[in-house]
Amino acid sequence: MDQTLYQGEFFEHTTAYLDYVGKKANIDVNVLSRLKYPKRALCVSVPVRMDDATVKVFQGFRVQHSLTLGPGKGGIRYHQDVTLSEVAALASLMTFKNSLLNLPLGGAKGGVAVDPTKLSRTEKQNLTRRYTTEILPFIGPQQDIPAPDVGTDAQTMAWIMDTYSQSVGHAVQGVITGKPIEIGGSLGREGATGLGAIFCLEEALKVKNSDMKNKTIAIQGFGNVGSHAALYAHQRGAKIVAVSDVDGAIFNPNGFNIPELMTAYKQTKSLTKINVGENITNQQLLALDVDVLIPAALDGVITSKNANDIKAKIIVEGANGPVTPDANKILHEKGVTVLPDILANGGGVVVSYFEWVQSMASFFWDEDEVNKRLRFVITKAFKSVWEMSQKEGIDMKVAAMSLAMKRVEKGMLLRGLYPR
Ligand code: GLU
Repeated sequence: MDQTLYQGEFFEHTTAYLDYVGKKANIDVNVLSRLKYPKRALCVSVPVRMDDATVKVFQGFRVQHSLTLGPGKGGIRYHQDVTLSEVAALASLMTFKNSLLNLPLGGAKGGVAVDPTKLSRTEKQNLTRRYTTEILPFIGPQQDIPAPDVGTDAQTMAWIMDTYSQSVGHAVQGVITGKPIEIGGSLGREGATGLGAIFCLEEALKVKNSDMKNKTIAIQGFGNVGSHAALYAHQRGAKIVAVSDVDGAIFNPNGFNIPELMTAYKQTKSLTKINVGENITNQQLLALDVDVLIPAALDGVITSKNANDIKAKIIVEGANGPVTPDANKILHEKGVTVLPDILANGGGVVVSYFEWVQSMASFFWDEDEVNKRLRFVITKAFKSVWEMSQKEGIDMKVAAMSLAMKRVEKGMLLRGLYPR
C-alpha cells in the first residue's frame, strides 16, 4: 500500500491506534494490515454555480473503509479543512463504531472541502446536488448510506435524497438517513447523537455509584451533538456551566438555562454574542474544574500538550477523535475515564440504522420506541466495554476498539479472502 496516499495526522493516529490495539487484541495480522486502509476512496470535483454567476470548484470525497458487515454507513461533512486523509480516518472510525454497536453495517464517510457558513442556501443546494451526482454510482440503500455530520443537516439530506431519486425515477428513502420526518426521516434522529452520549454518561455514572444530579458539565461545541447533549443533561438535573462554538466559549458557574440558550443561539449564531456568562476561550473551557467534559466539536483537541490540564473526571467523546491516543494514555494514568467516541457518539448512527430499517419497511415507529431501543443498544455496548476494561485492566478506548476489531475480524475470516 502507498503509505503517502492518506497521509495526515488524524489518519496516522487512527492507523497507529489500530496497530496498537490490534496487536494487543491478537487480531490476525492479515486482517490487521487490511483494516488500516480503506476499501475504496472516491475523489470528485464539484463545480458550483455561485450567486454571482461565477463557477467555483470544490474538492469532494466519499470513502468506504469496510463493507464486511453490511452496506457502508457514515456521514457527510462540509468543512473547509476536509481532506482525503481526514475522511479516510473518519470512515475507519465508522467501521468500528458500527461493529461495536452490533449494527449490520460497514463504515464510510464523505466530505467536501468548503466552509458552508459562507454559502447561500442556493449555493449549498447546488453544491449538494452536484456532489451527490458525482458520488451517485458509489451510494445506494444497499450499497452505502450517507447521513449528516459537521456542516450538514436534514435539509442537506433532503437534497441528496431528491437528487438520487430523480436519477432513478422514484423516491428512494433508504439512500440517506437524517432526513426530515416528512420525507421518511425517523423521530428522534436529530437529537440522537446527543441523547446517546448522555445515556452513555448515565451508565458511566451508575457504575461509579453516582448520577447526573448537579453534576457540572463543560461542552465544547454547540452544534447538533453539543447542543442536544446539553439539553438532555440539563433535563436530567446536571449543571451545564460552559459551552462553546468556533468564536469562543461562555462560562457561568450557576449553569445555563439550555432551552433558552438554544433559542437565543438560533438568532445570534454565536454564543459569545449572548450576554449570559463570562467569555472564555475554548482552551480554558477544556481545562475547567468540572465533573464532566464533553468535547463535541472536532478531532484532536485534547492532545499530549493539554491532557495534563484536564480537571474533569469523565470525558465523553461527543466528536469523532477529540482525544488523541497519546492524550488518552496520560488521562488513563491520571484516573480520568474517557468514554470513547465509537461508543459515546454512536447514538446518531444507531438511530440512522433505525431510520434506514423504517424507510426500507415503510413502517414508522413513535419516538418512545426509538429512544427505548437506542438506550438498549448503547447500554448493552457500554456494559461490554466497561466489563472488558475492568477485567483486563485497560482503558475504555482500548477496550471498545478491541471489541469492535474482533467483530470485524470474525466477519472477514468467515467471509474469507476472494479470490484466494
Ligand atoms: N456522522 C455521524 C457519525 O459520525 C452519523 C453517521 C450516520 O448516521 O450514518 O457517527
